[in-house]
Amino acid sequence: MEGKLRSVGIHQASGWVEAVLDKLVFTNIPPGMPSDTADNTVLYVGEQIVLDKLRRKHGEIPQKYTPLSGDQVVIQPTSSMGLGVFAKRNFEPGDLVVCERPLLVIAADIYSDPSLAARGLNTNYLINLRQLGTILKSANSHFLRANRDAFADLSKDYALDPVADILIKDHFPELYILSCNGFKTRNDSQMFGVYKDYRVVPRVASRINHSCSPNAIYYFDEATFTFNVVATRKIEASSEISLMYCALEVPRVHRHDSLRCYNIDPCRCVACETSDKEGSDRRRKMIKDIQSDTALVERLADLSLAELLRIQQAVEEEGLHYLAVYPWCCN
Ligand SMILES: [Zn+2]
Repeated sequence: MEGKLRSVGIHQASGWVEAVLDKLVFTNIPPGMPSDTADNTVLYVGEQIVLDKLRRKHGEIPQKYTPLSGDQVVIQPTSSMGLGVFAKRNFEPGDLVVCERPLLVIAADIYSDPSLAARGLNTNYLINLRQLGTILKSANSHFLRANRDAFADLSKDYALDPVADILIKDHFPELYILSCNGFKTRNDSQMFGVYKDYRVVPRVASRINHSCSPNAIYYFDEATFTFNVVATRKIEASSEISLMYCALEVPRVHRHDSLRCYNIDPCRCVACETSDKEGSDRRRKMIKDIQSDTALVERLADLSLAELLRIQQAVEEEGLHYLAVYPWCCN
């Protein structure tokens, strides 16, 4: 995965980082039993209260998971996107392509301001780069040795962005790695009455590139602490695995705006290079309209077969099969 830093908000309250650091736990999960190996261990950065809630909900954290048997994928150079992840066998829709304990999981609560929380105010906002960079520096010292090396290795093969490289990579290398390799994930359950977001840096899946017609989706399983990639279409051996970094049910020009912050400029995926760009935009707009039509479920029975087929055809033509798999994935 390639990229550069997203712009974030500025908050200058003094002592803010110290207050946040005070609230955070930096803990390896599982906590280093003799049978646990580094590649099974996740560094969690977040509030203790979140871990406590997870334990109450799921029992011991993390629950056991079944690693995938044999070699599923391989990391290789691509022609224009740095490294990528390629299938080593054929996958059917719904097949698990990657299932791994990530290197790092950050609960989004670190983005909240304790002083606002103390006053009972909504605290969802972004901190500035220096603050996040400082928190990540602390996180870095808590990695198991092998995972610290693996985390640092993630920065080796980027196509360098000159500004981010000079300003950020040298001063806040951990922040640079998070920006280039972190996935935002939303868990499948509610805590504190709201959905909880995580920033997750996987080991292998960090190298999966973007496509506007992706052949896979991802999710973070908070019970097993695994990062999972699931095929949404048939993927043949030797094909590249792809995920989406931005909303896809929008016209090409809007996708390109969002992708610029990942240093993808412009996107040259099969959907963006199509000879029928106007048709593609039109189909995606139709899909978006359907998605935002909350009354559609009630009207489904009233839609004609022709209308339903038209919707299905648009989804298939645009390679947006993840839409069909998504509800299954979020169960
Ligand atoms: Zn594209």
